[in-house]
Amino acid sequence: DLTKRIHCILPAVFKKLLLISFDGFRWDYDRDIETPNLDKMARDGVKALYVTPPFLTITSPAHFSLLTGNYVENHGVIHNIWFNTTTQEKKQYHAAQFVDSYWDNGSLPIWITAQRQGLKTGSLHFPGTAATYKGETVNVRQVEPAIYNHGNETEWRLNIDKVIGEWFHQQDLDFVSLYFGEPDLVGHKFGPDSLELREMVQQVDRTVGYIRDKIHDHALTDRLNIIITADHGMAKILPDKQIQRIILSKIPGFSFKDIQFQLLDYGPGGMLLPKKGKLESVYQALKGGHPHLHVYKKEDVPARLHYSSHPRLLPIILMADPGYVISGFFPLQFNKGDHGFDNEAMDMKAFFRAVGPDFQKNLMVDPFDLVNVYPLMCHLLGIKPERNDGHLDKTKHMLVHNGNVLIGLATVIGLLALVFIVMVSYNKCKRSKA
Ligand SMILES: [Zn+2]
Repeated sequence: DLTKRIHCILPAVFKKLLLISFDGFRWDYDRDIETPNLDKMARDGVKALYVTPPFLTITSPAHFSLLTGNYVENHGVIHNIWFNTTTQEKKQYHAAQFVDSYWDNGSLPIWITAQRQGLKTGSLHFPGTAATYKGETVNVRQVEPAIYNHGNETEWRLNIDKVIGEWFHQQDLDFVSLYFGEPDLVGHKFGPDSLELREMVQQVDRTVGYIRDKIHDHALTDRLNIIITADHGMAKILPDKQIQRIILSKIPGFSFKDIQFQLLDYGPGGMLLPKKGKLESVYQALKGGHPHLHVYKKEDVPARLHYSSHPRLLPIILMADPGYVISGFFPLQFNKGDHGFDNEAMDMKAFFRAVGPDFQKNLMVDPFDLVNVYPLMCHLLGIKPERNDGHLDKTKHMLVHNGNVLIGLATVIGLLALVFIVMVSYNKCKRSKA
């Protein structure tokens, strides 16, 4: 309630915030490619060498970490695919966006927290937008249709016009999250070293210029902070002739007869639920089954990955080395690029840029974990964060006030108190004269 009142009196202290994600924008994509707008943004603001996404390094889990500040095992959106091991039902990325119970599972995304504290928020295409959390949704939202061209630059500009012109300018929203599905798709299809990828990086660069121009046109430059980042990077998949593929059905001693439910043929990760009494034999059969396949019992997944404690995780977790994907019965995946690998792999690191009135200028900062963006955003918006795995200490050095919005706040409150005292004494003075 106090925060509500503070926000009501003091729009000047807390700025608006735009969080943008370009899916799969690897940390080093601006190398050897002309990116004048990203370069200008780095001069005007902050650039991190890279950010480390949470594991599993795929879209929905990583974006929900960005929105909640929690590692994947702590927020429970463990995969892009929703599944039910009893009915064998699976829902792909888009359909899974609408399964409320999958998302509303203990961690509140920043929109809901901000709204509860008196702010107005919006979200366009950002993973998690379609779901309802404890009966609430993000105030203003747009969810893409099931079939959607994620790479259309004209459509990108219409979406930007809506977010800047309508949502921030006309409707006076305080926080908006905005998602672009590229350069992920081009990175998958053509590979991270392709000409097509380079062209898409230039499209992203033009878009960053367009966003900043729009913000300027609406006189929001001094009232709006922008954070641009991504959910993961992209690694080149090694061609068949160079490698021996990982195909589980070909591993001696392993049989799908022992498996009750599987999540396979989805990039470099996989999960298995063995039938009753078969856990040990399945584990022993797969372990050592391929030199580039890592097989873990759920509880033995390295702690640094934060991907072992959630009840939705299946008892056996498979991870391939960069360059490899995991197939079940036979190869079904023919991408030239993929992600979902160990977040220590440099190819999984994402980019991070920020600019605006609260950010320092021309500052290059050391790498940090993506979960730390959440406490930074809460701090910028002046809201109290939920419990989270991030630390403001890891990001606040990029701010002009070094995290001391409170000093500004104290000054303004002090001034208001002074005005109050002056008015009261003036009124008393008037009364005593009368
Ligand atoms: Zn992808």
